[in-house]
This record gives sequence, C-alpha cells and structure tokens, in this order.
Amino acid sequence: MGDVSVKRFTKDFTQQEPISEEAIERAVEIMRSGKLHRYNVGPGEKGEAALLEEEFAAYMGAKYCLSCASCGMAMFLALKSVGVEPGDKILCNAYTLAPVPGAIHNAGAEIVLVEITDDYTIDLVDLEKKAADPDVKWFLISHMRGHLTDMDRLMEICDKHGLTLIEDCAHTMGATWDGKKSGSFGKVGCYSTQTYKHMNSGEGGLLTTDDPDVIARAIIHSGSYMLYERHTSRPEMEVFEKVKKLTPNYSSRMDNLRASMLRFQLRNLDTQCERWNERYRLLEEGFNMIPGITCPKRPEKETYVGSSIQFSLLGQDEASIRKFLALALERGVELKWFGDSEPVGFTSAYSSWQYFGNLPELKETNRILAVMCDMRVPLTFELDDCRLIVEILREVAEETLS
Ligand SMILES: *Cc1c(COP(=O)(O)O)cnc(C)c1O
Repeated sequence: MGDVSVKRFTKDFTQQEPISEEAIERAVEIMRSGKLHRYNVGPGEKGEAALLEEEFAAYMGAKYCLSCASCGMAMFLALKSVGVEPGDKILCNAYTLAPVPGAIHNAGAEIVLVEITDDYTIDLVDLEKKAADPDVKWFLISHMRGHLTDMDRLMEICDKHGLTLIEDCAHTMGATWDGKKSGSFGKVGCYSTQTYKHMNSGEGGLLTTDDPDVIARAIIHSGSYMLYERHTSRPEMEVFEKVKKLTPNYSSRMDNLRASMLRFQLRNLDTQCERWNERYRLLEEGFNMIPGITCPKRPEKETYVGSSIQFSLLGQDEASIRKFLALALERGVELKWFGDSEPVGFTSAYSSWQYFGNLPELKETNRILAVMCDMRVPLTFELDDCRLIVEILREVAEETLS
C-alpha cells in the first residue's frame, strides 16, 4: 500500500465508447420529430427500425431481419416462431447467460443441458448422446463469450437427428466459421445490442432467418399488430394472412431512436471487431506466457470477436483462485469467476436456474467452470492498457498461484 512502484490499472471495465456524433445528431432529429414508435411513419416512409432490419439482413446475408427489445426476447420470439410448444425439450450448452434459460422457460419448454469442453464450447459428444432422444427436436446454442464450436460437426449432428437450431450470437455478432457468419447456420440467429455487446443501443435485439413463415410469426409476436406491412424485411403479405389470428402479440418492439443509433454502428462493425481482436491477441499472447494461466486454443476456421477474454487457472484450488481475483481487483483488474457457487453480477451458473426444478449435475462443466475466469475488453482500453493488465496479472499470478 502506498508503494508507488506497484502498478495499478485505473480504467473502468464497463466503460464503452461514446455514441458517435452523427448518430447522436440523428437521434436528436428523431426526438425532435416525436416519431419514436416504429410504426409512426408517413405513407411510403420506412422508419429507422425498418431500415436497420434491411441493413442488418444485408450484413448477415440473411433474407429477413426483425429488430426487437432484447436478445432475450429475440430468442423467445425465435422459439415461439419455429413452433416450440410448452413441455418441449430444448438442448442448450450449460455455460451461458441467464437470459438464455430464461427464454426457454418463457416459452414453457424444458431445458436439456449439454456439457462443455475445456475450450468452453459445447461438448459435441454429449450433444450427440442427448440429441439421440427422439423427444428432443430443438437446440438453442449459445456461442457463449464468443467461442464457436466446430460448426461443421455441429450441423452434421443437427441434420442427423433432425434438430432445429437457434443460435444465440450475443457475443458472435461479426464472427465467422470457415467464412460463414455466425447466426447463419441455424434456422434463426439472435443478437443483442445491449451496452456490453458489439453494438450499443442500451437495450435491443435482432433476429435473422431465411424462413418466410418464421419471420412472419416473429414479426407478429414482436408486437406488429396488423401493421406488419410496414416491415420491409419481410415476405409477401399472404404469408401473414395464414398466421395473423393465431399469433399472440408479445409486445417487444424496437423503436426508431435506438434503431437510428444502431444503423450508424453497423457501418463500423467490422472495423470495431478488428480493434477488439488487436486487443484480444495482445492479451492472449501475454496471458499464455504467465505460468498458471491458460487461454484456450482457438480453431483455425473460427474468426472470433475478442470483446472479452477467458482463461483457466488449471490445477488451482478455490483458495488460490480467490486470492488471485482479490489481488487483481486490488490492483484495478476486474475479473469474473465462473466457479463461484453463488451467482454474482452478470455471471450465473446453471445450478442457480432452480425454476427448472432439479437439473442434473454436469461434472465436466463444473470442473471447467471451477477454474475459469473472464475479463471484459471494452474498446476504451488502448493496447498499452492491455499491456499493463498483462504485467499486473503476471505479478498477481506469481504471488498467488501455486
Ligand atoms: C447478453 C447476452 C444475452 C442476452 O442479451 P440481452 O439483449 O441482454 O437480452 C444472451 N446470451 C448471451 C450469451 C449474452 O451474453
């Protein structure tokens, strides 16, 4: 304490970059117009939400896009729109964030948890075992913290067992597998525009699909009333005719204000992803040189977006990990730990989803999460900031890890 030679990190791990001036100007224009509701448009006028949907569909190479209130709602709308019925079983990797099981519960379905592997992706062997149950036909994969599994193998398993795949791409917006965009493998891709994801509108969600029936139901479910004609990323009006009276309104729309901010960010998304990756690569290389810290190997075919970084403290016991985290925090480096038995902050373990009743224990997942740490990498961190974090964690690891 008080020793000036002790390196400290002082930046905020939750500080994102500001909204650009041009986006602020456009947002102010919309506020001045008073026309914030997405269907508050004149004849022939598209509105910002509709334009965002056209542009995001084009970016994703998808036929259709729907913007909505959050990624959690996008997943819920996706599940309802593909035809999930109450009581259905849905496969899902056990390492994910609370809105994912929340969407499954909201749809009245049951979750079937699948183990993860040491590189934090779904265990495809366990998946195949659980997919063999003839009662299981849905699969919601969460590309948690941006780690993509072998999508070729995954699609083979889906095809073989007739699984309908929904992708949670909250951390893979802008990522690809073998050149193909994450979110374009499944029937539906779901994305978040909440502040800590790759585009920031405070809250918000996007959903993409090539299926005309699914998008028609999703649009009506999202709360279009009978105004769905005002969507421009949609199939012919006849498709809606069939389902318009059979599809409840779950009121979870995007508004023009948030859409306008996102339209500007979308133009820059690929550049931002590259900036995240510069930081990620520096951190990954530095962390991997610290004895006791291991970042997972990332597959050749994966182009990730390093908006956060995870590593394992292999072989360390709980006491050492707690000391490591506490000392890092004291020196300004805020890490999360997935091994905590109580849910803390944004992090939650499947053992705290007790609303599903007693979920079976997943031994491999427990073992892997017990030593896994996680760090946000906001773009307000410069490369020198990342270098300082590496130095601090090197010293903290020397002091605390055995
Ligand atoms: C943030 C997040 C979500 C939910 O996004 P919201 O827009 O906040 O609902 C879903 N899955 C993962 C993996 C996330 O990190």
